[in-house]
Amino acid sequence: MSECTHNCSTCSANCSSRTEKQSLLAKPHELSHVKKIIGVCSGKGGVGKSMVTSLLAVLAQRQGLKVGILDADITGPSIPRAFGLKEKAGGTDQGIFPVRSTTGIDVMSLNLLLENDTDPVVWRGPVIAGAVGQFWTDVVWGDKDILFIDMPPGTGDVMLTVCQTIPVDALILVTTPQELVEMIVEKALKMANLMEIPVMGLVENMSYLACPDCNKHIELFGKSRVDEIADRYNIPLTAKLPIDSKLTGGVDKGMIELFNGDWLDKIADAIYDMPAKKDC
Ligand code: ADP
Repeated sequence: MSECTHNCSTCSANCSSRTEKQSLLAKPHELSHVKKIIGVCSGKGGVGKSMVTSLLAVLAQRQGLKVGILDADITGPSIPRAFGLKEKAGGTDQGIFPVRSTTGIDVMSLNLLLENDTDPVVWRGPVIAGAVGQFWTDVVWGDKDILFIDMPPGTGDVMLTVCQTIPVDALILVTTPQELVEMIVEKALKMANLMEIPVMGLVENMSYLACPDCNKHIELFGKSRVDEIADRYNIPLTAKLPIDSKLTGGVDKGMIELFNGDWLDKIADAIYDMPAKKDC
């Protein structure tokens, strides 16, 4: 190693003289210009993270924005199915091109690259994180007002690497009522804090069931605590998403773009109003 010049701006070594934190952020593809990046995360898998990502992307598209979804849930990629994407992603020597949904949302997911989308992905953490990094650096996203990232579930190394590699502006944390009484959500919030990414919204999924006759909200898993937790951690926005067979049906039929419901409108409006990155 060459001798330390004490000028960290011209040196990439992580020596003991380094006073500022070294950025690990990767540069996007030269043809990508993304104004805002919203990560949708959860303390564990299966709580509806992909559902919330899909709904928020559809709402943003309905607001007239140019929207992309980067599916970073490599081991459980469910975005292509929700949007009914059958076509595979193609590439040239310029880069990889996302697949466009019926209403114009660009999607990149490992399932769009695998020959057979039922093949399991038996990769270790660093390889998974590397693949997500390539979805940022090698995919030609073009001009996007918003890129939603369906984050890897949990608070492990993959989530950490993704947040260090891609300049995520804000996170939406998705939970279920059961999770809110455990420490999983608090772990996720502490991790976001550690990474210095603001959590702008807390979504309680499967919060209640609306009676089809009288619309009474039945809280199957007990009283909601989403507002109390949001207050405790200074999270500005909350939303409650019901268990709704129309949502499951929408995903199963690949027609999530046709969903009806105002549950996430406040969060979609706040994302719309967020200032864009300065360098775009
Ligand atoms: P995650 O991304 O957290 O692993 P998903 O979004 O894939 O979870 O959701 C898991 C399953 O639950 C999917 O089959 C999805 O369609 C279903 N689901 C999620 N949220 C709801 C909801 N609010 N109402 C009905 N089904 C839901």
